[in-house]
Amino acid sequence: MSSDLVIVYHRQPYEEVEENGVVKFRENKSPNGIVPTLKSFFATAEKASWIAWKLADDPSNPDFEKVVEIDDQYGKYNVSRLPLTYEQVSSFYHVSSKEAFWPILHSFKEKFNYDPVDWPTFREVNWAFAEAAAREAAQGARVWIHDYNLWLVPGYLRTLRSDVTISFFHHTPFPAADMFNVLPWRREIVGSLLACDIVGFHIARYASNFVSVAQSLFDVDVLERHKVDPEMVSDGTALSERSYPKLLSYEGRKVAISSANVGVNPDFIEARATDAEVQKNAREIREDMGDCKLILSVGRTDYTKGGVDQLESFERVLADNPELRGKVKLMHVSVSADRNMSAYAPVQTGIEETAGRINGRYGTLRWQPVALISRAIPFDDLIKYYLAADVAWITPLVDGMNLVCKEFCAARVDGDGVLVLSEFAGAAVELHSAVITNPFSHRSMDSAILSALDMPEEERRHRMKTLRSVVKKFTVAAWGEAQQREFDAAVERKQEMLEKQE
Ligand code: UDP
Repeated sequence: MSSDLVIVYHRQPYEEVEENGVVKFRENKSPNGIVPTLKSFFATAEKASWIAWKLADDPSNPDFEKVVEIDDQYGKYNVSRLPLTYEQVSSFYHVSSKEAFWPILHSFKEKFNYDPVDWPTFREVNWAFAEAAAREAAQGARVWIHDYNLWLVPGYLRTLRSDVTISFFHHTPFPAADMFNVLPWRREIVGSLLACDIVGFHIARYASNFVSVAQSLFDVDVLERHKVDPEMVSDGTALSERSYPKLLSYEGRKVAISSANVGVNPDFIEARATDAEVQKNAREIREDMGDCKLILSVGRTDYTKGGVDQLESFERVLADNPELRGKVKLMHVSVSADRNMSAYAPVQTGIEETAGRINGRYGTLRWQPVALISRAIPFDDLIKYYLAADVAWITPLVDGMNLVCKEFCAARVDGDGVLVLSEFAGAAVELHSAVITNPFSHRSMDSAILSALDMPEEERRHRMKTLRSVVKKFTVAAWGEAQQREFDAAVERKQEMLEKQE
């Protein structure tokens, strides 16, 4: 099989379910549509492939279906599944990626855990992805690789196939050299990324940070800088930048840097939010609340999400403002992490203890200040809460982008509701009309939530109108189109280089 487009993404592009002993591939129900957006790229290619891993008890079992052919609304494409053992997945994904890379990417040096990392296994798994991509790619194909757990794939792939155009997108933040260079494998990782034609990030700050890291380790020259889209410049916000290095030169090759913010699919979200049943349920939730205001917080149980810090702010607000007791409720959804990841157990305990303490201090038989939910809420249910909430309180300590805040705005077809957003979420550079807060400051956290609860309707509607127009502009589809343009430009640059050499 020779594909013009190869997508390398650790997850398979569908949900694999077994019904009456028969394996079925179902459309992925992701509300944001990263997977559908990636699949929509298949329309631009004559033949396409997707490479992912799949757990296998015995990778050498001849019955393991390594390649499946899918024929869905996006056309026909192959999914190449790399059989990985439980030990390989645990080592490459749960340990190396989540215990060593994740804390550094999110600037938590103290959480960095070097000792359990098995680097040969990380290399081995990445090599397997690179080999699969090399096998699937046609001459001059476009290969699009996703996220830090596949950092070594571009370098390996380049040694196997000098002809392909490689793009790599980071779905996380990217820190500056002082932080990134804590990773002892930094040269190998960055060397691999510099083998790409395009290295992509959500926002200009992460792009600039990457270039600072690359320049600390290699002789990399910046050939071009680009101005940041004025809509993405927010004076004084922590992650805002005015320009970023756009084109690099390294060892005679050009590497483009892309800054493109992932968005949501507002049409899909609006269609769900205007559904009569969803609207009815949202009204019922509101009626049940009576004159009590609903604050909604949604995230994963991860130290980067700042769950405990937010609960502590709520506790201070209730302590300092007795008139709010019985008049406000916080629905704190913090989806428990995979049990295989030990780093998250203390975060879960911290959240449970703090929520329990607040309910114990201030709760009554009729009113519990915090409704803590540790399970994932299906998106259709979540949307009812987005509609019913007075305030969405989204205050991660660090977050590559954060889609929950964008979903909240997209869902507010009524034009009301207040978003309180951490300035350390990538989304803050575009959602300036939110109440922006600094989660490291008690005063900023407490005053932001108080002002959100107190905001007059006119101001709420004015802010929400702007937020919704931004979310409708910077959609996941727009992100996909930006990536497509980057690929076109890279192919053109390579063509020019070849013509010059001839
Ligand atoms: N989500 C969900 N149910 C929940 C909590 C979260 O479906 O109970 C979804 C949410 O709608 C969003 C995603 O999980 O699409 C979280 O994405 P985000 O970028 O905000 O955070 P991440 O978890 O990727 O860091």
